Amino acid sequence: MKPVAFAYAKARSVDHAIELLGRDDGRARLLAGGQSLIATLNMRLDAPSLLVDLNGIGGLDGIARRNGHVEIGALTRHVAAEHSEVIRQDVPLVALAMPHIGHPAVRNRGTIGGSVAFADPAAELPACLVALNGEIDIAGPHGSRTVKAEAFFKDLFETALGPRDVLTAIRIAAATPKRRTGFAEFARRHGDYAMVGLAASAEAENGDLSEVRLAYFGIGATPVRARNAETAVAAGRLDDAVAALGEDLAPADDVQASAAVKRHLAGVLLRRVAAQLRKPAP
Ligand code: FAD
Repeated sequence: MKPVAFAYAKARSVDHAIELLGRDDGRARLLAGGQSLIATLNMRLDAPSLLVDLNGIGGLDGIARRNGHVEIGALTRHVAAEHSEVIRQDVPLVALAMPHIGHPAVRNRGTIGGSVAFADPAAELPACLVALNGEIDIAGPHGSRTVKAEAFFKDLFETALGPRDVLTAIRIAAATPKRRTGFAEFARRHGDYAMVGLAASAEAENGDLSEVRLAYFGIGATPVRARNAETAVAAGRLDDAVAALGEDLAPADDVQASAAVKRHLAGVLLRRVAAQLRKPAP
């Protein structure tokens, strides 16, 4: 299928993009890497009147350490994050997740901002952001604001972004010697969206874990924190943690797997990720 006809405009700046988004009665859409948007248009799941291309805006990409945080510009391609030394050292969870996002062709064009804004419930990056208590910078018609990841992902493909908002960057506290992270997912083939995945972080001291954050993806409408399991993992009670997933997660059958299979896989992933959290960084 081909998309419904639309107009195209190349934004010169974030302010210009916001202005263009205001022009067409809420029917304009931002275009970043196009890896999700173009498929959506081709399937006629959306029919915007105007595409506002972000790709000409200078300074919207890049990865930088700033005030103890790593800031990743919205237009940063997945491939740049995948090969970034800053991300490997300071946000190792994102480095672990990156190779699981689609295939090289997808990662060459897809952007960090597009992944987070699209908010696919089976996507890796939103769960990493929740596990790391990350933040999202947004520019809109009434100025700029910063939203915590957990407040950003609201429902299925629904975020804190308004129709005239532009996601400009994500920000994550840089790793400390105490921070541990873990990542695992099940996908039918490497590069497919996950059937179930888990991104996790914790603080480790003298063999004890605290501040455990477990963010599942592919098992709810948004990334899902498994809070009862977090408490049990911190207490070193792994069997109890797996049992607690019964309360924490409410999977539904989908095209990839039944709810029962997802529940089983969630427990298997938890055991793998808990082992990673307990292992000192090499
Ligand atoms: P686009 O497709 O350009 O935009 C997506 C949506 O986000 C649109 O609604 C757009 O308006 C909005 N948007 C984009 N940028 C901004 C911004 N700065 N501010 C506000 N709104 C914005 N993703 C995964 O996470 N895991 C996978 O395993 C995976 N597998 C894939 C396999 C295939 C074959 C393909 C084609 C894609 C796959 N993806 C996967 C999706 C990929 O990661 C996309 O790159 C990503 O979802 C969207 O990024 P994009 O830059 O291409 O955004």
